[in-house]
Amino acid sequence: MGELPVPFLELNDGNLIPQLGLGVWRLPAEDTERVVSEALELGYRHFDTARIYDNEAAVGRALAASGLPREELFVTTKLWNTDQEDPHGAFEASLDRLGLEKVDLYLVHWPVPQRKTAVGAWRGLVEIVGSNQCDSIGVSNFEIAHLNELISETGVVPAVNQVELHPLHQRRELRAFCAERGIAVEAWGPLSQGKSDLLERPETVAAAAAHGKTPAQVVIRWHLQHGTVVFPKTSSRERLAENADVFDFELTSAEMASIDAMDEQRNFGPDPASFNE
Ligand code: NAD
Repeated sequence: MGELPVPFLELNDGNLIPQLGLGVWRLPAEDTERVVSEALELGYRHFDTARIYDNEAAVGRALAASGLPREELFVTTKLWNTDQEDPHGAFEASLDRLGLEKVDLYLVHWPVPQRKTAVGAWRGLVEIVGSNQCDSIGVSNFEIAHLNELISETGVVPAVNQVELHPLHQRRELRAFCAERGIAVEAWGPLSQGKSDLLERPETVAAAAAHGKTPAQVVIRWHLQHGTVVFPKTSSRERLAENADVFDFELTSAEMASIDAMDEQRNFGPDPASFNE
């Protein structure tokens, strides 16, 4: 199969990002190469990893084995919390593990406000992004206060903020803040990580039935229609294909509104204000 018809979004630095990809958190290193290879065969070109996922090398092996030109791929990795005081060293180590000369997007993984090292880390990323080793930089799990601090201290607005976001946790205030500043929002846990009954609720089930799709496809579509970047994780080839088969239907405004109304401001992951691993 060739490339999927994934739209590109333009970041505030002018670079383009494919709006759909594959996240590889909790894919064991021994499975990651197979899953990324299958995703590449199915047409995925955007991969979201991190140093803490311990599978950068396996992602890199699958990318290399595909033989695809580097410019067709979009690879994100992230600076782990304990490396915030050495962003350059951590970045080089990630590049080495990935076996790449460049990453498309490098993120500060968490604000860990107790450590007071995120602004320094961000200054490091600002130095890195000027090089030919990294096209875009951003953050992850940054709340409005964390973003305000970063921007006021450095004057540099992240291209991306990757946060927990799904119909049960819609982050409206944060999304509006990011929209005003041109910060693209990426949704992690876009399907609520399988930790809720999101895919059995009447809103997602009814829309799925109306379009001959699955509730997971409906939720992915909801993200896409909100302009969010999304990379649902799965290790199954069937679900890889299912999660990418979302470009031949559109949710109606009534269906979007019914899913918008599901917001419970309920997170399943850690609270960025206190997470400090
Ligand atoms: P997700 O919402 O993508 O959920 C993944 C789970 O959903 C799978 O384990 C599977 O059980 C289920 N699933 C997947 N496809 C399905 C389908 N078609 N039908 C039914 N169930 C399906 O959660 P996630 O993996 O946590 O998030 C996606 C990616 O976001 C991660 O892999 C990672 O790249 C990124 N992430 C980033 C952070 C961060 O702190 N920046 C945190 C968590 C995840």
